[in-house]
Amino acid sequence: MTVNVLFAAPEKDWEEYAPHLRTALADFGIAADVGTDIAPEATDYIVYAPNSPLQDFRPFTRCKAVLNLWAGVEQVVSNPTLSQPLARMVDEGLTNGMVEWVCGHTLRHHLGMDTHIHGQDGIWREGSVPPLASERTVCILGIGALGSACAHRLAQFGFKMRGWSRGPKQVEGVTCFHGENGLKEALTGADIVILLLPNTPDTENTLNSETLALLAHCAVVINPGRGPLIDDDALLAALDSGQIGQATLDVFRSEPLPADHPYWSHPRVTVTPHIASATRPNTAARVVAENIRRGEAGEPFLHLVNRQSGY
Ligand code: NAP
Repeated sequence: MTVNVLFAAPEKDWEEYAPHLRTALADFGIAADVGTDIAPEATDYIVYAPNSPLQDFRPFTRCKAVLNLWAGVEQVVSNPTLSQPLARMVDEGLTNGMVEWVCGHTLRHHLGMDTHIHGQDGIWREGSVPPLASERTVCILGIGALGSACAHRLAQFGFKMRGWSRGPKQVEGVTCFHGENGLKEALTGADIVILLLPNTPDTENTLNSETLALLAHCAVVINPGRGPLIDDDALLAALDSGQIGQATLDVFRSEPLPADHPYWSHPRVTVTPHIASATRPNTAARVVAENIRRGEAGEPFLHLVNRQSGY
């Protein structure tokens, strides 16, 4: 039997995804009609981007699952019309991209690269040999699919790795903490903190004046997670007081970040335009196809979102 898969994302994405979805579904032995104009009552699965025009899931009465193309689900998880199971994206390409971005920025700050990149002024700055990774403590808040992959790779450089999650976890080479008390332990004295938490009511302002004060003096904040994880005023104050030495921020409460936002002009803030990583159609299409195969075989879906916890 043919399954009907509706692709619901901004129009420009369809051309890029279509060949990969068709190939992946065929590779998984699924006879499928994939398109952008499948009638709601005929749709079996929705491949979904939260910025799609589709916001009312009620007419999709036989839809077995909504398969999100993004890792973050905050824009869809609380949609009151969504009664179908929702899966988030865990994609090898997305993960590798995040590992590269996080390692790149961590090493940049660890090695003090900016001093020399911006210091080509004829001054011979000897005595600025960076410490070894084994002398730095890096804390990753959120050690799920992305955070644990980043932690694992940074541990291979020799960084003293800490991780924090909601429930107890074990990640090789990482000292793991969880819960409210665990947050204090994870942050205390850390030199670099990386945020890879989802945006939920519980994670808002995880970095605030109190938690920023726990870090080592002149610590670095790297945020590829979501903007609301940080209390912006508290971060700006901590930058101005010197408690935070540098911040590299990829995500913001309001995107694009308004041109007059103080982050743009702060000398020790780097703004990147939500490019830390992206879902890669060739690898993501295979994750989608595997979930459709599971749905058709009556097996549990991968990467289901827990509506209560919001991720
Ligand atoms: P994930 O696998 O769901 O991992 C989330 C982690 O956060 C888990 O370790 C989870 O703990 C922890 N967590 C959630 N709520 C918490 C709480 N209240 N207290 C402590 N820990 C909590 O998610 P992921 O795939 O790694 O993605 C993480 C986030 O990265 C996404 O939600 C998205 O916002 C962001 N992202 C950004 C970009 C970009 O380009 N900037 C790209 C992709 C993703 P448990 O392990 O105990 O569940």
